[in-house]
Amino acid sequence: MKLTHDLYVVGGGRFGFGLSGVLDCHVFVLDGGSELALIDPGLGMPGDFDTILDNMRQDGLDPKRVRKLILTHYHCDHIGAAAEAQKRLDVEVFSSRFAAPVIRSGDEKAVALDVAKAAGFYPQDFHLPPCPVDRELVEGDVIEVGDLKLTAYETPGHCDGHLSFHMQGRDRTYLLGADLVFWGGRILLQNIHDCRIDAYASSVFKVEKLDFDALVPGHLQISLRYGKEHVDKAAAYFRQLGVPPNLL
Ligand SMILES: [Zn+2]
Repeated sequence: MKLTHDLYVVGGGRFGFGLSGVLDCHVFVLDGGSELALIDPGLGMPGDFDTILDNMRQDGLDPKRVRKLILTHYHCDHIGAAAEAQKRLDVEVFSSRFAAPVIRSGDEKAVALDVAKAAGFYPQDFHLPPCPVDRELVEGDVIEVGDLKLTAYETPGHCDGHLSFHMQGRDRTYLLGADLVFWGGRILLQNIHDCRIDAYASSVFKVEKLDFDALVPGHLQISLRYGKEHVDKAAAYFRQLGVPPNLL
């Protein structure tokens, strides 16, 4: 589904547009002209990545043009399909430096898969396949996807090693915020080992300083203009020493 000249959404489940597996996060393709990048390929239940590839073809995007796979954070609804995507598309894989060893080893405890399974979020037979990571990102690193330029920001809080990306597009700027801030200023706190409220607030204050038009989160509504309003709302709650409304 084409959203702008730069951005397509090609997957997503119950908390998205119902384009692929029910548990998939929003799966995005960036079109930089000379190449494409895939952001967060979803959970990767059997057959779901085929659906994502079909969605791309229906949008006129040739999967062979995808050269980069960018992973925002290590939760399974975002990266479960990373190993399959890497193998099938032969792409260069990017993640935060913090998340890289966890993704390479498929460390299910580090990504809180054990407690998420116990809570009924994922099927009992799901396992996280290890995926190679080629480039480890830290604050300020820049990824070029053809004409597009993405700057990485370390935004822990939802979980450790979480990245958000500021992107300069052709006719607007974007915050690719993954699970940092959602429409209406909501956030996603979970009772897991690396979800931290103080870090969450600092991350929201960090992206509050950036200028951007579109807020492109990992689930639910997407704002193509006035996206900053949602981050400003979340920041206002934190500034009052409160907590923004939670998705769960
Ligand atoms: Zn998450």
